[in-house]
Parts: sequence; structure tokens; C-alpha cells
Amino acid sequence: MTEIYDMIIVGAGPAGATAALYAHRAGLNVCLVDKARFPRDKICGDALSGKVVSILYELDLFDQVARLPGATIREVVFGSPNHVDARVDLRRYDHRDQATGKILPMEGFVIRREVLDNFLFQEAKKVANTCYEEFAVKDLIRENEQIVGVRGVVDGREREIQARVVLGCDGFNSMVARKAGLYAHESVHWVVAIRRYYENVAELGDQIELHFVDEVLPGYFWIFPLENGTANVGIGMRHDVLKKRRVDLKVALNEVISRSPYAHRFKNARPTEDPVGWNLPVGSTRRKSYGNGVLLLGDAAGLIDPFTGEGIGNALYSARFAVDAVQEAIAADDYSGTFFKRYEDRLWDAIGDELATSTRMQKMGQWRPLLNFTIHKAAHNDKVRDLICGMMANAVPKKQLTNPLFYLKLLFS
Ligand SMILES: Cc1cc2nc3c(=O)[nH]c(=O)nc-3n(C[C@H](O)[C@H](O)[C@H](O)COP(=O)(O)OP(=O)(O)OC[C@H]3O[C@@H](n4cnc5c(N)ncnc54)[C@H](O)[C@@H]3O)c2cc1C
Repeated sequence: MTEIYDMIIVGAGPAGATAALYAHRAGLNVCLVDKARFPRDKICGDALSGKVVSILYELDLFDQVARLPGATIREVVFGSPNHVDARVDLRRYDHRDQATGKILPMEGFVIRREVLDNFLFQEAKKVANTCYEEFAVKDLIRENEQIVGVRGVVDGREREIQARVVLGCDGFNSMVARKAGLYAHESVHWVVAIRRYYENVAELGDQIELHFVDEVLPGYFWIFPLENGTANVGIGMRHDVLKKRRVDLKVALNEVISRSPYAHRFKNARPTEDPVGWNLPVGSTRRKSYGNGVLLLGDAAGLIDPFTGEGIGNALYSARFAVDAVQEAIAADDYSGTFFKRYEDRLWDAIGDELATSTRMQKMGQWRPLLNFTIHKAAHNDKVRDLICGMMANAVPKKQLTNPLFYLKLLFS
């Protein structure tokens, strides 16, 4: 007899692995599948923020993750287009987490995704009832209007798995979203970025650096430190602007690191890979992320912050909210899209305001003088830096950043 799982989780990246971990806590019967074999790489900036830390605490995984190879982050540097740096010390505020309610010291990490994802996957594999690697989902199984499982290929053979609910955690190009009719690609809500690991970049410390360079406004160039003097370096921008301006990100990255004020830092640096690109579906629009018997999480639901490019935190949040909704669906024996609307509503209640603010900031980031003005003020004024730190910690409403009065006050500060 075919076993029917409570849920099939398609994709074992941060969203899928975390969903499996929460599902185990909720006593759900889970099948976790991924088309890759772990450890596998994922193109990313590798930076983990307070949101991620908060979920890791909730899952009792923080201490283990903090010991993984990588770097601990205590400062964020914002670089203006005319090359003034504002350094924001993260330790000035505690982080108040919107989903877990936890108040924790604000610190971040940079950990290669090959390492982090493998750690999360191995933890998830320990608790999932069944786990398949190299299982590529090709289609969904339907009974009438209801999605009741997946069809995929493993070891060269087609295989079907049935479940009450399918969680699409399969990233930006989500097969689950496509087959469920929930996939949408609009280049205005899409960012493209490339990453290149380097050895021996000068002046790395315990800071992540976001430089708003002219080559990619309203995007940015980043330098994030890793273990043993290595760094994650990359550049990204909105897809529609990239197409309009015909920007080649590889050329742009080379130009930026070859010119002032960055050239001296890359004089003795050596890339350890060719530049590699990936897509970021950003949450500047609310995409439908539920249907009959199906929920979309993480990048499959397009939850990346449009201003910072941070997506892991929201992927973990979505896992937490999705498992709650599935647990309630089982109790109510109702797996309809109408029932699962609560998942999306609760998720967007938690992250919607922040995403709306970041969307406005992404738009404002196109105005070079405004970026120069704000970052100059922050660089030279303790109170402004404190305010920005407070916003990152959720202690001060981020909405202020999109209010013209905020900039008027800055003018006289
Ligand atoms: C260049 C770049 C820089 C970024 N920098 C940061 C950063 O510094 N910090 C941050 O927080 N976020 C960053 N992001 C965003 C972040 O990488 C994503 O938001 C995050 O990976 C989302 O996790 P996920 O689990 O939803 O998807 P993914 O991490 O993409 O995982 C999806 C999984 O699904 C599997 N899969 C796909 N299709 C199938 C299928 N058909 N069948 C079975 N399995 C399948 C894949 O193998 C993969 O393991 C960056 C993104 C890019 C592109």
C-alpha cells in the first residue's frame, strides 16, 4: 500500500530543511526530497542576519551553526556612490524578532552555503520520515482539483509520492509553482547577481560591506568576509534595469574592483572560481503562494528583501508559518486553498511592512544624490547611525526611511 505522508517537502535548501525540522517538532509525517546531493553549492552572499539567528535559537541549532567555518559579523558598512562609508555597529541594539518574539544580541554570520545548507540538510534528514537526494520533481499528482503528491525521477526511474500537502521549497525556478499555476516572472520584481569567492582581499574584518556603486544603481557591490582570509564578493541589480542599460555584471564587477577606492584591496587578491550568477525573486510584489494541497516557501514564493537581497531569513520564517498552517489543516481535515490562505496572510502580516519599506528604498536607491546625502549624514553623525542600527534591530520603525520628513530632519541634524 502507498504510504501517504502529511507533507512532501520539495527542495531541501534553507526553506525545506527548516520546514522538515519544524514539522518534526509538530509530530508530522514528512518526506523530504531534493534533486541535488548534499553538500551542494548555492550562489549567495552567504550572509545570515538576526532573523536567521532567531530561528536557529528556536530550533536549538544556534551554537552548532556559530561553530561552522565562516565569519561573525558585528558591523555593517554602507558605501555611498561618491565613496563615503558609514559604519553601523550592530552591537548598539538587541534584535527584536518579529516572528519568534525573541530579543537577542544583534550579530550576524557569513557562512558558505555549501556548509550551512549541508548542516541544515543533515539535521533535517535525521528527523524526516523519508529523505531522497537526487530526486528531481517533474510534476504534481492531482485528484480532481486537489494536489495530492509529486511525480519525479530518482535513480533513472519514475516514482510517485503522495501526501496531504506539497510544500514547494524548490527555489526561484520552482517546478512546484509552475505546475501549480502559481509561477510568475516579472523582471521588475527580479534581481540578478553574481558571486565570486576570493582569497587575500585586503582590509577584511568583522564587517559586511554594501557599496552602492554607479555601475549597478539601484543595486550594490558587496564584500563579505569568510574564514581564513577568504571573501564572498559580488554585484547585483534589478533585472529590468540591467536589461535596459545592457549591463554585463561580470564586466561591472571587474571594473569596480579595478578602480578607486577598491583596487588596492584587490591588488593581491586571487579569485578561487569564475563568477557565477543566479536569480533573486524579490518581495516587491505579493505573489500567491498557496493552492489546493500546496504551499510555496522561500524563493519559490518570492520573499527576498528587494533592498538588501536577504532571503534566507524570510525562507525560514515561511517554513515556520507553513508548518503551523499544515498542522491546523490536519486538525480540520481541510487541505483546500481557501484554508491555506491563512498561511500567506500570516506570513505577510509578519514581513509585509518590511518588504514594502524595502521596495520603496530600492526605488529611492536609484537617486544617487539621496544615497550620497543619507550615507554622508550617517557617516558623520552618531545619532543617525544609531537610528539605522535601531531600524535593523526592529527597535525603531523602518518606515521612517521612506518618509520625506526623515530626510528633512537629516538636513538639519
Ligand atoms: C547572488 C545572490 C546573493 C544572495 N545573498 C544573500 C545573502 O547574503 N543573505 C541572504 O539571506 N540571502 C541571500 N540571497 C538569497 C538566498 O540565496 C535565497 O533567498 C535562499 O537560498 C532561499 O532559500 P530556499 O530554500 O527558498 O531556496 P534554495 O536555497 O534555492 O533551495 C532550493 C532547493 O530546491 C532544490 N530543487 C530545485 N528544483 C527541484 C526539483 N524540481 N526537485 C527537487 N528539488 C529541487 C534545489 O536543489 C535546492 O536545494 C542571495 C541570492 C543570490 C542569487
